[in-house]
Amino acid sequence: MKAKILIIEDEEDIAQLIGLYLEKEGMEAVLSPTAENGLEQLKKSVFNLVILDINLPGMDGFEFLQIIRKENPIPVIIVSARKADEDLILGLGIGADEFVVKPFSPKVLVARVRALLRRVSNAGEEKGSIHFGDFSLDPDAYLLFKNDKRIFLTAKEFEVLRFLVLNLGKTFSASQLYEKIWAKKYGDLATVAIHIQRIRKKIEPDPSNPVFIQNVYGAGYMFHTGSNMQNRKGHGV
Ligand code: CA
Repeated sequence: MKAKILIIEDEEDIAQLIGLYLEKEGMEAVLSPTAENGLEQLKKSVFNLVILDINLPGMDGFEFLQIIRKENPIPVIIVSARKADEDLILGLGIGADEFVVKPFSPKVLVARVRALLRRVSNAGEEKGSIHFGDFSLDPDAYLLFKNDKRIFLTAKEFEVLRFLVLNLGKTFSASQLYEKIWAKKYGDLATVAIHIQRIRKKIEPDPSNPVFIQNVYGAGYMFHTGSNMQNRKGHGV
């Protein structure tokens, strides 16, 4: 099946150039000149990936990303003229999968698109899979993949992670997590910290300095997706 890519870019010549390169690679490209139009397109049909400009007339790329991230795990590649936008996206904790700085080579962008699509399909892109960093989580099948490699979690570890991922950006205390996951009002709250520690060992690049499951001082734990871009810097793409 042809991969279908949504290009949200107000500069028509750039959008058309990207579209041309994608089509040369056998993909289908749909152009949206505004974020508002992009949201409409996403409602109308299923896309495999979004290429998103930040500086747009009307709604900007940040706002668009925040809106779609509430319900749609679609891979997003941000294209922006400002390097500072990458830091802002990290700061907001809204996950973009890749960041490409303008001016860019269309060949490089297309290579990123291909790599990202491969990563996603290797992870088994069934409906409902959730992506963060290099991970893909299937909430119903209790499956977690890093790139195409299965990460093994116990049922409770998976349930803790799934709960935090589904409630991205919200903070939960140990007792709230205990109540949600173990479905008991009272118990040994240390169980929660032990589970968080075990999950971190399995998913965090550095478990003592976690980027996905973060400690919110005095309040609890919060899931964050910004780590992929931090990792990517280290890959020297
Ligand atoms: Ca623009």
